Amino acid sequence: MSELPLADSTISDVRELLRRREVSSRELTEACLARIERDGERLNSFLAIGTERALATADVADRALAEGRGAEQPLLGIPYALKDIFVTRALDDAGQPDGGLPTTAGSRILAGYRSPYASDAEERLTAAGAILLGKTNCDEFAMGSSNENSAYGPVHNPWDESTVPGGSSGGSSTAVAAGQAYFATGTDTGGSIRQPASLTGTIGLKPTYGRVSRYGMVAFASSLDQCGPFTRSVRDCAVVLGTLAGHDPRDSTSVDVPVPDYAAALTGEVRGLRLGVPREYFVAGMESGVEAAVRAGIATLEQLGAEIVEVSLPSTEMGLATYYIIAPAEASANLARYDGVKYGYSAGEDVLLDNYLRTRGDGFGAEVKRRIMLGTYALSAGYYDAYYVKAQQVRTLIKDEFDAVLTDVDALLAPTSPSVAFKIGAKTEDPLLMYLNDACTLPVNIAGLPGISVPCGLADGLPVGLQVIGRAFDEATILRVADAYEHAAGFAELRPPTAHD
Ligand code: GLN
Repeated sequence: MSELPLADSTISDVRELLRRREVSSRELTEACLARIERDGERLNSFLAIGTERALATADVADRALAEGRGAEQPLLGIPYALKDIFVTRALDDAGQPDGGLPTTAGSRILAGYRSPYASDAEERLTAAGAILLGKTNCDEFAMGSSNENSAYGPVHNPWDESTVPGGSSGGSSTAVAAGQAYFATGTDTGGSIRQPASLTGTIGLKPTYGRVSRYGMVAFASSLDQCGPFTRSVRDCAVVLGTLAGHDPRDSTSVDVPVPDYAAALTGEVRGLRLGVPREYFVAGMESGVEAAVRAGIATLEQLGAEIVEVSLPSTEMGLATYYIIAPAEASANLARYDGVKYGYSAGEDVLLDNYLRTRGDGFGAEVKRRIMLGTYALSAGYYDAYYVKAQQVRTLIKDEFDAVLTDVDALLAPTSPSVAFKIGAKTEDPLLMYLNDACTLPVNIAGLPGISVPCGLADGLPVGLQVIGRAFDEATILRVADAYEHAAGFAELRPPTAHD
């Protein structure tokens, strides 16, 4: 058992304490709420907090634990947070507010929106016994790499509050790094789980496309979006992923394949594994401290007995352009539903067209409007073949290259982000510079593969992430590699200065 304060401990540690009845779920919930109370406003990590419901649910969990029930619930009594892009049921059957939490997707256009149903993620986590604390801040509709596009203000990185926590799931990465929740969900369309995990020194995993249901996740780019966990250890990540994963008939892209016991896959052994290092991922403009930490991480895995081979993914440099056609195209279609009639904010104009225009004009932020314009342009009759169809062809090329390389190696090792956390405001004036943050993560979404980011040290006093990319539906191997690395590398107890009571 580690010496970390209760709020900074791992799920595995506190589960053991719960089992031995040395701590109660109420105490865990109060420890998180105390951190939220102390730092939440400054870090701006939460958009909604459900204190009373969380404490009441914790008491229910404590009764179950006292009576020896709930052995089959892997997260019984563990407090967590949902990115505010997952809907939470907040209306009763009569359509009246039932005390549940609102959902905003970080946008003004959904201000005050209350969902009549729960997301699959919330349902599964509730069934597993977890305690929902609240909803975390995020970039508007998950568009961003720094959490500066939230209509509710930027999130501050607990490692250095003048820097960004990564995006778009920056509230979730911050909550987990700062001891405000034992785990949190994120969504990753081009890097939004792995990149903020890298910038906050947490673990973040994007599953294979189709592994986790997207039901109840506010859609950004439907062919790329996936839900996944943020945690403080790889073992915790395995447990949460095991809860989130599984077939859901309500999501037509959810794949009906068995979910392995991910925790059992953590053998601590990487001997016999062939791990590829794609040359193209050490991109120009990458910070030298990041490269050094990632290369040292790769060397550690080699010392552990993995065979390291250099590989090539020549189409990598086309990833960014491909993504910024496909993602905005899908976003422009998905966001057509926000018309001032069905959801959230309405400008209240008498003439319908005026109402559409003003609702969308007032309700969406600048980055969302930029994406809608890019996407609408790429899908327009005259440019569809030149941009959208071409991007889909390159997408296939990128996927085929990954598939070919991954028949030869078991997984790939790469940086997660080319930089450590940067200053708030440093890249907001230059969207292209901002888009480059995801150069190492978004090809993985384009190919639909799983990827995990695990801390591999500090550069300039800020966390660096090592990315492990796997074959489709082989999350077990990337978890195994990340877990073996985590134990050997000695960064498992890295916590930001806001941690520790
Ligand atoms: N930063 C990328 C974007 O803005 C990826 C975001 C995400 O993964 N949700 O599109």
